[in-house]
Amino acid sequence: MRIVGIVDASCPGHGGDTAARLMGAAARAGACGGGAEASLWCMADGGPAPRRPWPAGRVVIAEGASAAAGASGHCPEAPLKALEALVREHRPDLLLFPADRAGRELAVRLSARAGIPCSLDVPDLAPDGDRLLLFREIYNGNLEAVFPCETPHILTLRLSGFEPAAPFADPEIVRVRAEAGGDAPCVCRNVLVEAVEPEKGLEDAGLVVVCGAGFASESAMEQANALAGALGGVVAGTRPVGIDGRVPPSRIVGISGTQIQPRLCLVLGASGARAFAVGIYGSACIVGVNTDAQAPLFKSCDAAAVCDAGEFARALTDIVSSKGKRGGADARDPRRMSQG
Ligand SMILES: Cc1cc2nc3c(=O)[nH]c(=O)nc-3n(C[C@H](O)[C@H](O)[C@H](O)COP(=O)(O)OP(=O)(O)OC[C@H]3O[C@@H](n4cnc5c(N)ncnc54)[C@H](O)[C@@H]3O)c2cc1C
Repeated sequence: MRIVGIVDASCPGHGGDTAARLMGAAARAGACGGGAEASLWCMADGGPAPRRPWPAGRVVIAEGASAAAGASGHCPEAPLKALEALVREHRPDLLLFPADRAGRELAVRLSARAGIPCSLDVPDLAPDGDRLLLFREIYNGNLEAVFPCETPHILTLRLSGFEPAAPFADPEIVRVRAEAGGDAPCVCRNVLVEAVEPEKGLEDAGLVVVCGAGFASESAMEQANALAGALGGVVAGTRPVGIDGRVPPSRIVGISGTQIQPRLCLVLGASGARAFAVGIYGSACIVGVNTDAQAPLFKSCDAAAVCDAGEFARALTDIVSSKGKRGGADARDPRRMSQG
């Protein structure tokens, strides 16, 4: 695997320690498969070439390619022509940038130009046989996801978790004169994103139990699932509950989620913000539960309970379950529920 760490010598945060940690990360990544060939690319301005103890056996110094080389001062476009040329020539499998502002600016621009996928803010990576695994926090930091990294790939790395590589006594230094980069402050591209087919079910559900942030702990979600199961309905959530990963994105109700139209909509522990409420207006009957009697939710409700949502869910589950056990014909009929 060919791995390069990339720094811009003109950036205050891209000093020796940053380069050393990038190469430390390269060594960790390179432990997968048949070993790695790691080098450092240093974007430098037109002045005297940077002199450092270099933490790589091969260092390419692209002179005139730093972001400070543009006529208008800092310009992230300036290094890109040189970077693209280096990528075409060396075809690296993994391109590592620091996850700071300058690193992100370069990584995403290079990704768009070179057509190489990019993962940002990666805190850790680990070899797994022939594969490289990337670790990333998702859902507001509530879960850690592990992704197999397909190559070629561009990464910005949070470097605090990587040991610095030791300096090389006699590294090979290659100087290239960079073609002047553009001086435009930014570039806009139109990207066509194909919509993911939403999971079916929420629009057509006859009964929906919607959990808000006031009723979204792990135990609350278990209670909501038990209640929905007893009633023959489905569980959904407000946007904060979806962002926290308590319900999948396809189960978010509201203006940026699904607009539902069940016969009965039970809303537990949601404030009833307008962006959410437009998603439940199509319901035949809305029952809201909130500890705050002034919650805007109650303006949209046919029936309201000012109480703890957990107590409400437990009591209703018990009632429906015991009715079910007694074989009441309408125990799971939302129309009967809403009249009760
Ligand atoms: C452009 C845009 C689009 C948006 N789209 C959506 C969208 O599609 N869907 C969406 O939901 N939001 C959307 N939002 C966010 C929306 O504005 C609200 O921030 C969100 O709906 C609030 O979610 P919530 O009611 O779960 O949380 P909160 O506002 O935090 O409300 C929690 C409620 O729980 C109550 N509570 C606390 N403890 C209990 C308890 N034990 N029992 C009962 N009640 C309790 C509290 O009194 C409070 O009213 C959007 C926002 C923007 C800016």
